[in-house]
Amino acid sequence: MAALQTDISARSASRSFASEFVLSLKNLFLPALCHKCGERILTEENLYFCETCWATIDLVREPKCPRCGRPHPRRPGFEAPESFVCLECAEQKSWVERTHAAALHAGVLRDAIHLLKYRRKRLIAVPLSRLILETVFKEIDAAAYDAIIPVPLHRSRLRRRGYNQSDLIARNLCAVLGATHLPILKRVKDTASFSMLGAQQRRNQIKDAFRTVPDANVKKKRLLLVDDVVTTGATTNECARMLRKAGAQSVDVVSVAAAKML
Ligand SMILES: [Zn+2]
Ligand SMILES: [Zn+2]
Repeated sequence: MAALQTDISARSASRSFASEFVLSLKNLFLPALCHKCGERILTEENLYFCETCWATIDLVREPKCPRCGRPHPRRPGFEAPESFVCLECAEQKSWVERTHAAALHAGVLRDAIHLLKYRRKRLIAVPLSRLILETVFKEIDAAAYDAIIPVPLHRSRLRRRGYNQSDLIARNLCAVLGATHLPILKRVKDTASFSMLGAQQRRNQIKDAFRTVPDANVKKKRLLLVDDVVTTGATTNECARMLRKAGAQSVDVVSVAAAKML
């Protein structure tokens, strides 16, 4: 038995040495190249974009809508407007108190989210989570929340993709912040892609798309919902409605990206 264990640990040690060796050879001959400019990537923190391209990500700044987190458009020649609730949010009852998006859904960030969602590059969830940690969590206190909840995917989409991108981000945030990960929402309606729909159509389509799992206990809890991209806030608002219906005290949202307000 002892000999067998020695043999197994020797084998796993040589395997890990072998995989490290392969990794260093790979870095030497097949270095990671930036998906935007093609330059060689020198750090292991982000294997998809170089530091120069990553630095072009446009962070969300005030003034912005507190409910959906999208920045108000600045019109040349006019003073920047105050932070106020945008038209789309003003038209609907809001179950979300505040949305904090790290950056605009454009350029390198849009490409990064595309790699995560449609090209199976799940490791990019790590630098995307770091982007949230370095921007949003500078302003808000993780201790103000009892749990972090990912926006769920419908099971057929989850089967196709293999993972839920929002859940990867939620797990990364929980690991760094020491927060409680509570994946208690289920998506019961598989809605078609939203991108061509107006705000009212989005709200109609997403209605009753989510349920909380039967044993979910969110009574009096302050929750933080995680989504990859917030567009009009219809999805996160519907998730928040279900969580509030289940007894949650409050729901805030954190997202990697916010769509531009037109
Ligand atoms: Zn680059
Ligand atoms: Zn809004």
